[in-house]
Order: sequence, then C-alpha cells, then structure tokens
Amino acid sequence: MEEWGIIQQLINKLGHGKVLTGDALKARYSHIWEMDRPIQAKALLLPDSTEDLSAIMKTCYQFGQPVVVHGGLTNLVGSTQSSLQDVVISMEKMNRILEVDEENRTLTVEAGAILESVQLAALEKDLMFPLNFGAKGSAQIGGAISTNAGGLKVFKYGMTRNLVMGLEVVLADGRVINSLKKLIKDNTGYDLKQLFIGAEGTLGVITKAVLKLIEKPKSRNSALLAFKDYTRVVKTLRWLESSLTGTLSAYEVLWQVTYRPMAAAVFGINLPLAPDFPYYVLMETSGADQDEDRRRLEDLLSDALHHGMIADAALSDSPAQQEQLWELREHMDHVVARCQHDQHFDISLPIGQIEEYVQGVLKELDKIAFVRECYVFGHMADGNIHLIVDKTKAGEESVNAVNEAVYTPIQSFGGSVSAEHGIGMHKKAYLHYSRSPDEISLMQSLKQMMDPLGILNPGKIL
Ligand SMILES: Cc1cc2nc3c(=O)[nH]c(=O)nc-3n(C[C@H](O)[C@H](O)[C@H](O)COP(=O)(O)OP(=O)(O)OC[C@H]3O[C@@H](n4cnc5c(N)ncnc54)[C@H](O)[C@@H]3O)c2cc1C
Repeated sequence: MEEWGIIQQLINKLGHGKVLTGDALKARYSHIWEMDRPIQAKALLLPDSTEDLSAIMKTCYQFGQPVVVHGGLTNLVGSTQSSLQDVVISMEKMNRILEVDEENRTLTVEAGAILESVQLAALEKDLMFPLNFGAKGSAQIGGAISTNAGGLKVFKYGMTRNLVMGLEVVLADGRVINSLKKLIKDNTGYDLKQLFIGAEGTLGVITKAVLKLIEKPKSRNSALLAFKDYTRVVKTLRWLESSLTGTLSAYEVLWQVTYRPMAAAVFGINLPLAPDFPYYVLMETSGADQDEDRRRLEDLLSDALHHGMIADAALSDSPAQQEQLWELREHMDHVVARCQHDQHFDISLPIGQIEEYVQGVLKELDKIAFVRECYVFGHMADGNIHLIVDKTKAGEESVNAVNEAVYTPIQSFGGSVSAEHGIGMHKKAYLHYSRSPDEISLMQSLKQMMDPLGILNPGKIL
C-alpha cells in the first residue's frame, strides 16, 4: 500500500511520463555490459530539471525510500546495482550544455550530458575539456564527477576533481545546494563540492556542474614504443618528461599479454610494432607547433633507440593514424570480449614497484585453476594499472579468490585498491586495505550526517 503511496505521489509531482513502472522497466538495465538483464527497481524516474529532482528527493525522504542514481552505467564497481525495493533516478534527460564561457574558460552543464558531447562543445570554441577515457561515448559528466574519474590525461591535467569549479547538488532531503561558481580561488571555509566528487551518489545527487576548460593544444603527436624491460619504461618516462618540457600529455603502458590481442583486433595483420616485446607504451605530446613538436619527438625517439632505451617505435603520421593507435588503449572491450568471465581491477602503486607487484600477482593467479589469463595495462605515469582477469568460473567464490590474490599484496606496497573506479559494491570488503579505521569511521559520520535515513545509494562504499 505504502509502495503505491510513494509511486502515486511521484506521479502526482512529476507526471506519468517521468515515472516508469511494471513492464516499462523490462527494457531498462543497470550496466551497459548487462543490457540483457532487466533492472531491479520499484520505479525508474526521469527528471528533467533540478526542481523535479528536488521534488523526488523530498518525497523519497518523507517515505524513507532508498534511491539509486543512474548515469551512463559504465562504472566498473557495481555502484549502479539496485534492488526491487529501490527507486532508480536516471539522469538521461538532464543532458543540456548550458553555457560555454570562452572568457572564463568554463563550461556549465547538466549532470546527464555525455562526456563526449561535453568534449565536443568545448572543442567548437577552440577549448578543451581534458577528461578522457574509453567509455566517453556513454559515461555522463555527473557519473564522471561522482566517481572522480581519471582516464588517459590525469598525469597532465589531473583527475575530475581538478576540473570541477562548481556544482549544484540535491541533498537527501531535497534541499538544493547551488554553488555553480566560476572561481579559481575560493578559500571560504570547507570546500563542500569536493565531498560530492567521488561519493558515488551516496551523499547527494549532482544536477549541474561548472567545468574548467583549457586552451586546445595546437599540436598532437602520438607514438607507440616497445621496451625490453620495465626499468627502461620508467626511465624513459622521466627522460621524456624532462626533455619535452611540459608537452608530454599521456604515457600508457600495455603488457605484451594485452598488446597482442588489442593490436590484432585494431590492426589485423599489419601491426604497428612486432608483438614479441614484453612492454608497449602509447605516448602523446600536446603542444603549440605541429611540425616543430613532431620533429622534436622524432629526434628524441631516435636518440632513445640509438641508446637502447626503447627497442622499437612507431610514430603516427596523421590524425587518423593517431586515432587508430589510441584504439589500442581505449577499446579494451576487445579484450573483454575474449573473456569467459571477466573481473576488473584498478590498482594504484608507486611507479617503480609496479612490475614487482604484477609479477607477484601473476604467480598467485597462476595457482588458481579457473584463471585463464590476466590482461595488464594502465596509466603508467599515474602509477595506476588495470588488470582484467579472464576466468572459466563465475560466482562469489571465484571472485573472492581472485580478489585475495590481487588485493592482499597491495598493503605491503603502500598501494590503493581503487585508483580511479571507486568502491561501489565490488571493493567494499577491501576498503580497509587502503583506508585506516579512523578514516572509515569519519566517512561513516559524514554519511550519517548528510544522509541520516541512509536512502542515497544504500550499501555502496561503506
Ligand atoms: C570501457 C571502459 C573504460 C573505462 N575507463 C576508465 C578510465 O580510464 N578511468 C576511469 O576513471 N574510469 C573508467 N571507466 C569507468 C567509468 O567509465 C567511470 O567510472 C565513469 O566515470 C562512470 O560514469 P557513468 O555516467 O557511467 O556513471 P554510472 O556508472 O552511471 O554511475 C557511477 C556512480 O555514480 C553515481 N552517479 C551517477 N550520476 C550521478 C549524479 N548525477 N549524481 C550523483 N551520483 C551519480 C551512480 O549512482 C554510481 O554510484 C571505464 C569504463 C568502461 C566501461
């Protein structure tokens, strides 16, 4: 009865078209990789304004109704999972780009806008929104902010956190906190917007954001490098950083096990580099003069080849070739498609110790009969690697066994169980590997204060 009470109130406030129930839910899902699995929810709501959202949260607060916010559904930690007791709020209709302010180099946007459309809107004004990752065509800006997404250019431009200047947020009780400021400096007490960045929808619902734009680089050059050992991968990063004086904008590593299937999927038989080196790096420079920057990179790479720092290199000749080269890193779905049951990891470690860690984990995974392969790659310059473990067995037991192999050594390396994907459901049990009891207790106090009824994305993170 109460169930219909709240649905009826939501229909009264929003109108029929914005409240989906029953059969209308069958075509909805909770992750882009599980489109065949219908969503579990009491109702799915489609607000198209902050006012709608505030009305939704007021009603849900009144009923103690749990809510799960859906962005682009590309997270990799189970943070958009819901149950039949939940109401799901999909942000897809709040997708307007409200302003590109060229003078202040900001972009104001509703939370449901797709990341790629934000990037394109900035480019139209010769500016750039540097956040970029493989799921840019589906992920929403609100989702990226709520997960504090990282991606391919963190090393030069920082995480999402560094690119958000202002936020509008609806709190658990429906109050709207509007802080859509365009200020670079604002030391007026606690920086409240930071609380919502990376909170995975557990502290409030982000409705709008002011994003920081940068000048669009006038040149872009990309190269694929091959290495004989990991020490050279690290040394070359330092050397390139100091030689390129600020123009190195990406340095992504692929272990051979990952390069092989990716290169075959992207290039067929005409591979840019032979597949028998242990490590490959995709690097990019962003500068001011295309020809000059390319010449500089060419000289540096031939120097590196001459001195044996790199074993081989392929420099792209055209924007189209660059796009293809970057597919090697951006389209990991080629690897996912090969897996029977895939398990994903997102580990942060001191750069110099990554290989020691990886070798240790591979040894442990080798002992597990149902592990077929472990694909290793990552944002090397950020000390962040990803593992995709391919298994012949699904289920909790297999997930836990692989988790133990991957997470157990992290503490001794002073690493983190989540560099950029968040905690969600999948990493909850391992939060204490990276956070102290006092830190977790402070997080719990914050959650209790901001969401006293525990209705915002219940059961996630904590
Ligand atoms: C192929 C692929 C590559 C990826 N590469 C990267 C990468 O390089 N770096 C990286 O960091 N991540 C990466 N990801 C992970 C993922 O894309 C990011 O976590 C992304 O930021 C999630 O955005 P989304 O809109 O899909 O959010 P969703 O998955 O829909 O939601 C993520 C979380 O945010 C919450 N949420 C969503 N919108 C809001 C809102 N408006 N207000 C409050 N809470 C909200 C949800 O409740 C959930 O807890 C990748 C994913 C895929 C599939």
